[in-house]
Amino acid sequence: MIRKLLTGTTISAALLMSGCSITLDDEETREHETFFKQYTPADVGDIQALPDIEVIDGVTYVDGILVVNKEIPLPADYNPGLQQEVIDAYSEMFADGAERGLDFTLVSDFRTYDYQAGLYNNYVARDGQAEADKYSARPGHSEHQTGLAIDVGSTDSATTLSIKFGETPEYEWMKDVAHEYGFIVRYLEGKEDITGYQYEPWHLRYVGDAAEAIYESGLTLEEYLGID
Ligand SMILES: [Zn+2]
Repeated sequence: MIRKLLTGTTISAALLMSGCSITLDDEETREHETFFKQYTPADVGDIQALPDIEVIDGVTYVDGILVVNKEIPLPADYNPGLQQEVIDAYSEMFADGAERGLDFTLVSDFRTYDYQAGLYNNYVARDGQAEADKYSARPGHSEHQTGLAIDVGSTDSATTLSIKFGETPEYEWMKDVAHEYGFIVRYLEGKEDITGYQYEPWHLRYVGDAAEAIYESGLTLEEYLGID
């Protein structure tokens, strides 16, 4: 939380400890100011704190966590593939689940910008843009393009990419342990107005060590980071 109070600078913990202050050069200051205008400060007790936002090569990090949503895009050429830490994390979670008689499947993982564009355009053609926007990301706005998101399912294929997955034994176990593997359920029930997406019990986002605090908070990633 200390870092949040420092509002958008890139001060490291070490600098903090030594009591140093740094001054952003003009260009950097302008960049940050432009960005902050888009966000309402988060309430932290009596103090109004701004999130710590950095944009590196067109990729946005808030408090060090890569963020993609309806407002924050990725560059079209951002093409990292599925990240190894994600493969390790879900492999371990699936294995631990299997020991409890649960049978997870990996439904979807990394998607390129172009692939997402094809998906989205097909959904728009089928259901119209307003409907498509409720369940599909526009190209450049999919978490799957980060290489940090996966869709999981159970062997009951009738629940694949359906809110029925939320009623499977796999989900019942997963929802309260996914954070131990670094995942959060990204699009929560009742938070549609914040995430912009319908409830997706199957969509997991890897955030690493931050997962536990986010899970405990019961908040969406946007709320947790103060960018909702
Ligand atoms: Zn997904």
